[in-house]
Amino acid sequence: MIRTRFAPSPNGALHLGHAFAALVAHDRARRESHSGGGEFLLRIEDIDGTRSRAELAEEALADLAWLGLAWDGPVHYQSHRLPAHAEAAARLKAMGLLYPCHCTRAEIRAAAQAMGPDGPVYPGTCRGQAVDPENAAWRLDVRKALEQTGPLDWSDEIAGTQRARPELFGDVVLVRKDLPASYHLAVTLDDAAQGITHVTRGMDLFAATHIHRLLQALLALPVPVWHHHPLLVEGDGRKLAKRRGSPSLADRRRAGEDGPALAAALRAHRFPAGLSLSMGVDFPA
Ligand code: GLU
Repeated sequence: MIRTRFAPSPNGALHLGHAFAALVAHDRARRESHSGGGEFLLRIEDIDGTRSRAELAEEALADLAWLGLAWDGPVHYQSHRLPAHAEAAARLKAMGLLYPCHCTRAEIRAAAQAMGPDGPVYPGTCRGQAVDPENAAWRLDVRKALEQTGPLDWSDEIAGTQRARPELFGDVVLVRKDLPASYHLAVTLDDAAQGITHVTRGMDLFAATHIHRLLQALLALPVPVWHHHPLLVEGDGRKLAKRRGSPSLADRRRAGEDGPALAAALRAHRFPAGLSLSMGVDFPA
């Protein structure tokens, strides 16, 4: 049995790129005919209290139903998992792999010596320093973590076997000042808790998998297969975004557009004028 998921963050309306991602996850599960078929789960990644909005989560569910996508079981809300996130963070701290940091984005930008997949790489300023843990963010000592795990590989259904290179990101934040887990820790823990066997998501998150693979090794979590799909982009190669005028799924739904017909068009790679699929910048040559 395989299990996939769609995991939107309800901090903006869903657009065609989300619809495409949801279809990939849904169809990957529904197409599975070996050993018991597949399940498609839905997880709302709503832990960012300043940006998440409950009404956007409701809209997302309505958008998926409108497209004709049915998910298995109850909807999972990431915000219900904060105690589990805190417990995992405590384990990593007890392993001596996290350290507190108060550096601001501006300080990091000024001190960084390299660019990583997410921007300037944190140069390790607070590593090994006596930093006040009160209200700090906690970073993973990536080099120390890799010394414990040894080299790690992961497998993508499209791109093939990859050697994990979490060091590309530097020491990422795993515990935020305001939350027990950052995106990287929360997504890794919740995929494991939901028994996800195939993590489908856009190529924009390809490099993040290097970190997730390391976290799985450190926390003895099962290792899924990944399936990073191309992204729907505008003519200038940029990701779709509501603020640049791509209509949201909710706008289309309210305008009376035919949801299943739109889903069929996306499946057939028939996109509205000006949109195309791109493997993105991170796809290994
Ligand atoms: N919640 C993330 C997003 O909307 C996706 C998480 C994932 O698929 O890993 O971008």
